[in-house]
Amino acid sequence: MTQSGVCDQSLASPILRNASEWTEEFFATRLDTLKAEGRYRVFAEIERRAGDFPRALEHRLSAEVTIWCSNDYLGMGQHPEVLASMQRAIQDSGAGAGGTRNISGTTHHHVLLEADLADLHGTEAALVFTSGYVANEAALGTIGREIPNCMIFSDALNHASMIAGIRHSGAEKHIFRHNDPEDLDRLLRKADPGRPKLVAFESVYSMDGDIAPIGALCDVAERYGAMTYLDEVHAVGLYGARGGGISERDNLAHRLTAIQGTLGKAFGLMGGYVAGSHKLVDFLRSFAPGFIFTTALPPAIAAGARTSIEIVKNSPTIRSRHQDRVTRLKGLLAEVGLPTLPSPSHIIPFMVGDAAVCQDISENLLRRHAIYVQPINYPTVPRGTERLRLTPSPVHSDDDMFHLVEALKESWIRCVDPRFGQRASLMGGKT
Ligand SMILES: *Cc1c(COP(=O)(O)O)cnc(C)c1O
Repeated sequence: MTQSGVCDQSLASPILRNASEWTEEFFATRLDTLKAEGRYRVFAEIERRAGDFPRALEHRLSAEVTIWCSNDYLGMGQHPEVLASMQRAIQDSGAGAGGTRNISGTTHHHVLLEADLADLHGTEAALVFTSGYVANEAALGTIGREIPNCMIFSDALNHASMIAGIRHSGAEKHIFRHNDPEDLDRLLRKADPGRPKLVAFESVYSMDGDIAPIGALCDVAERYGAMTYLDEVHAVGLYGARGGGISERDNLAHRLTAIQGTLGKAFGLMGGYVAGSHKLVDFLRSFAPGFIFTTALPPAIAAGARTSIEIVKNSPTIRSRHQDRVTRLKGLLAEVGLPTLPSPSHIIPFMVGDAAVCQDISENLLRRHAIYVQPINYPTVPRGTERLRLTPSPVHSDDDMFHLVEALKESWIRCVDPRFGQRASLMGGKT
């Protein structure tokens, strides 16, 4: 959407009118555009019940619902040992960190957490940020800005936080086709061999659930002497013998310049990090404004994250249980012919292809079936590929799955195709 496209003439003259009146109208007009397109965001107001995941209370309906779209992939957000270590840290150290990392905010918990993260990825060091978004924004922004003449090569489907960091860095940016080492090669071949280069990509892409050919991308990057930056946000905790992500699973961690991750998804808390060499980490610690000028995470979060990482690292069974649940749900959805995108990961995209219909299905699931799945619309995904994104976890039972599949079937009949289920083959049968 172009900015100019939505400014109609009646709003064109702020000078002639009261400024606040004009801006209020401007905001309303922009919001109306979103509403007209069916992609105005409505948040479900939920209250998760520790010990009872994936169940939660939905406050608009005052009803218990089952969450099917959480990024707390393993249910670690309710793990009793995680909660206990957080409570201990609050008792011992109080609520907040009390400052930036530079000014009294580096607690013992933070230092130990960074050592644990370095150990998780087999790197020399790691640096914790207040979120995965901030980690990407700060690290890519700082590397791209500080390295003279740096060129950044970015996968076409990179997350908004990476795009923000790259843009903010002011470095020359080139976008390679999604997961396409040949296209990356084509771009790198054209680039000045004398200039420093960085290739930025993800391992598991959270909207399609596909996985990057990390080894092939590293091959190309190495051929041209480029650094590599991998976002493992949707893979840490879930893949690899100890949950070090796809780079651990494929034995590639040592080939990456930087591995970025989050404590907010599979580890169930919040916070982000970058793992790499001592010098890279020390450089970010010393130059990244998004690290320097903000209050450190509360010690209780750092303590809880340590416990969560420790548990996840040592529980291959939680990972196999997770994958088992994913396979089970994929199988059930395929059996009834509902339109899921085949994916090699734990993310199951349920393709709808229209923002308003997506919203309707989500609302129907919530109101009629007590199932919460947030619709995913533009700009998170391209227009025409609007979807529901299902994330099974070890806390979802077979009965939860049967209920979900029946509810999706009923919603599809109600909102999309009244004859669904009556025809023989319905794969890809969109409106
Ligand atoms: C969620 C996400 C982030 C941001 O992580 P937070 O810890 O939630 O800020 C970064 N990269 C990707 C690919 C993500 O999906």
